[in-house]
Amino acid sequence: MGVAGVIFLLLALLGFFLAWKRTTRGDEAIAVARYTDSAVWGEDELVYHKKRNDRMEIALTFDDGPHPYYTPIILDILDEYGVSATFFTVGENIEYYPKTAERLLESGHEVENHTFSHARIGNMCYGDIMSEIERCEDAVSAVSERKTKFLRPPQGQMSETVKEVIKNLDYRVVLWDVDTRDWAHTSPEDIRDNVLSVVTAGDIILMHDFIGHDSPTPDALRLLIPELIERGYKFVTVSELIDGNP
Ligand SMILES: [Zn+2]
Repeated sequence: MGVAGVIFLLLALLGFFLAWKRTTRGDEAIAVARYTDSAVWGEDELVYHKKRNDRMEIALTFDDGPHPYYTPIILDILDEYGVSATFFTVGENIEYYPKTAERLLESGHEVENHTFSHARIGNMCYGDIMSEIERCEDAVSAVSERKTKFLRPPQGQMSETVKEVIKNLDYRVVLWDVDTRDWAHTSPEDIRDNVLSVVTAGDIILMHDFIGHDSPTPDALRLLIPELIERGYKFVTVSELIDGNP
C-alpha cells in the first residue's frame, strides 16, 4: 500500500469514528436538545421538560436521595447561595436515612416523588405503578405531613399506563431538558461548561444528590451557581416554575 492508500485508510477510519461519536452523543444529548415545548402529550399539560418564562427562572432538581453524606452538603451549598431547588426523593431512602430526610424536608426546598424503590415503571402494571408512587408519597408524609404532587419516573420511563395513573392520582410528570450527566461522573468543569452552553430561561436541570461515591455534583454546583446568578438566572422550585407558586 502506498502513501495515498495509508492516508485514505486513515481518513476512512476518522470518518467512521466521527459518525459513531455523533450517533452515541446524539442519543445521550436527547434530553438537552429534543424538547422545545413547555409540555408534551397534548393539551392536558401532563409532562414537563421545561416551562418557558421571561423572568429568567430555572429549576435545579436532584434525584435519588436523600443520601446521608451528599444531601447535607448540597443543602449547605444551596443555603450558601440562597437558592431554591427541588428534590425527587426515593421513598426507600427516606426510610433508610430518616435524619437526613428530616433535614431535607425542613429545609424549605421542594420535595417530590421519584417512586418508592427507584422502580423502572415503564413496563409495570397499573396497580404496581400506583403503589410505587403512593408508597413514596407516604414516606414523605410520614416525615413532614406534606404530600408530593409531581412524579419524576426513574430514567424518565413513561408509558400510557403511567400516564393513566398520574392522571388518576392528580399528579403531573416532571422530566428535564438539561441533563448534567453528573451520574456518569462528568467532571465539575465539564458540567459547568455543558450547562452554561445550553441553558435558557425555563429549563429544568437534572442533577443527583445520591451518587454512590466521588460525586462531582457538589463541586459542579459551586462552579455553576455563581455563573448562573451572574447571568441573571433565578432559581425556583418546580412548583414555582410550572404553576407560579411554591
Ligand atoms: Zn433516579
